[in-house]
Amino acid sequence: MSDERTTADVVVIGAGIVGAAIARALGREGQRVVVLERGAAVSGTSAQGEGNLLVSDKAPGFELELALHANRRWVELAAELRDELGPDFPDIEFERKGGVVVATTEQGAEPLKDFARSQAEASVDAQIIDLDEALKLEPHINPAITAAVAYPQDSQVQPVIATEALLASARRAGVEVRCSVEVLGGLYDGHAGDRLMQKDAAGRRLTGVRTTRGDVTAASVINAAGPWGAEVASRLGVSLPVRPRRGVVLVTTRMPHRIFHKVYDGDYFGATQSNDAALQTSSVIESTAAGTVLIGSSREQIGFDPRIRAEVIAEIAAKSTRVFPFLRDASVMRAYGGFRPFMPDHLPVIGPDHRLPGLWHATGHEGAGIGLSISTADLVADLYAGREPGIPAEPFSLARPSLAPHLTEGAVA
Ligand SMILES: Cc1cc2nc3c(=O)[nH]c(=O)nc-3n(C[C@H](O)[C@H](O)[C@H](O)COP(=O)(O)OP(=O)(O)OC[C@H]3O[C@@H](n4cnc5c(N)ncnc54)[C@H](O)[C@@H]3O)c2cc1C
Repeated sequence: MSDERTTADVVVIGAGIVGAAIARALGREGQRVVVLERGAAVSGTSAQGEGNLLVSDKAPGFELELALHANRRWVELAAELRDELGPDFPDIEFERKGGVVVATTEQGAEPLKDFARSQAEASVDAQIIDLDEALKLEPHINPAITAAVAYPQDSQVQPVIATEALLASARRAGVEVRCSVEVLGGLYDGHAGDRLMQKDAAGRRLTGVRTTRGDVTAASVINAAGPWGAEVASRLGVSLPVRPRRGVVLVTTRMPHRIFHKVYDGDYFGATQSNDAALQTSSVIESTAAGTVLIGSSREQIGFDPRIRAEVIAEIAAKSTRVFPFLRDASVMRAYGGFRPFMPDHLPVIGPDHRLPGLWHATGHEGAGIGLSISTADLVADLYAGREPGIPAEPFSLARPSLAPHLTEGAVA
């Protein structure tokens, strides 16, 4: 470890899309921000998923509010990044592609339509369509589907390029991004501390972090470590009930363009909202500009086990053919996977930690962190500046009642 010591206003832990968006937002407001990333930039979950920016999969409630805010902001953000970074920077591939959600069983039809109606009441553009309309949008879809809903607001982005673009923009605002620097522990009241017992947290303040490359002191430390948020919190002295939720995606070889929207099976809602640790799969299918087809995805709580198991691949592949029968003949070129940052009450944690002044969290976005990163950054920037937030903050606070039963889980021993 070197003797290097830096002082910043804000330390952001993690250079995934959430940390990048927050660093950019605070940097542009004049804060001296240092991002600390133990690997390379965008080496975590933000490089291991898909880039769907969905409103279609969110039930009316607080997460949908974040998603609707993000849906508006991504349009502005894409334009801002293009203007700022110029034509030489790779395009973030923002596209308002639209989504089509289908039911593939008789039992699934009415719940899907009811869900769409409830979303429409909450300002989502959710259009229940008949089979002819569905076939106009997606001519190769299974004509045996039992219901379909079109969601014109659903969009996408290339998540790795989007994160790189946010980091590039943040650097232009003066943010320092340090890679290969791991956060090991906290500094408390100006002194390097050993792991802080949770019961001792009251009355003490986090004043920075200890890292593999020296100490960084800061008025605030933001834990944006995605699925590793619990480990980081624990190193800083508090518990956080974020857990990894494994997800695997299949990639086919290139084929003629036959899928024009994000198309998924209504089963997907059930999988996203479930707390079941066992394997769940649901079809989320789309073509890429390169001609490959991405077929997602699975959800499983198996710790940080990175294996890609045949059972998972087989189940994802089989379900996708219910939606697009022609995929039976598709050739799978590869599969990849990552770990979604899962919270037990299905909402991210965004804001200060009431147990340890100086510490903030911005994690737990599960399968929606690409889309919700911009809303998270806007909320953090508002809270940090002491402004009335444009998005209600309480539902995402660590102090919310639904998290209370989980806050001792994984407490620092
Ligand atoms: C299969 C799959 C499909 C998905 N599809 C979508 C989708 O279509 N749309 C969507 O919105 N979301 C999707 N997601 C979810 C999305 O990818 C995540 O919610 C999002 O990437 C989380 O971003 P993050 O910045 O919080 O975490 P990460 O990208 O994981 O970043 C956290 C960073 O913290 C770093 N770190 C950890 N510990 C330390 C430490 N001690 N010191 C320094 N650095 C540290 C890590 O190295 C990592 O780079 C998907 C996820 C998966 C797995």
